[in-house]
Amino acid sequence: MRLMAGDVVLMAHFAYTHHENGAWVTLCRLHEGKCNSDALGRCTEYCARTGSARCSNKDVFTKPLGRRDSLARAIKFMPRPTRKLIWASYFNQSLKRGLKCVPKHVGPTQEQLAIEALKTLIRTVVREEVQRGS
Ligand SMILES: [Zn+2]
Repeated sequence: MRLMAGDVVLMAHFAYTHHENGAWVTLCRLHEGKCNSDALGRCTEYCARTGSARCSNKDVFTKPLGRRDSLARAIKFMPRPTRKLIWASYFNQSLKRGLKCVPKHVGPTQEQLAIEALKTLIRTVVREEVQRGS
């Protein structure tokens, strides 16, 4: 996938491997400029930045999630403004190519937080009831 960070062209290659233990690993390899391919069409450019995302057995593996998380790791040490440009380019490219993409990780929603708070409250009340009863 061709990504732009300002006027710098970055190529992102994603590979998905299914490991013996059942976990899926997505590898993101990034290099600057055009690709150089071998006879089999594989890119031979040296990739200075890589990121991998491992999907635990508990989670459902999806390629969009693998791409997002592995790309996030590959660009982790870049300055924030650069990362912002890359993400914008990534979402734009995904849209153009009809690839599903998931938004960047966001914390729990307000609704989830409210449910958690309620559960904690219920547990506390139940505990107090039990203590009072004994
Ligand atoms: Zn390449």
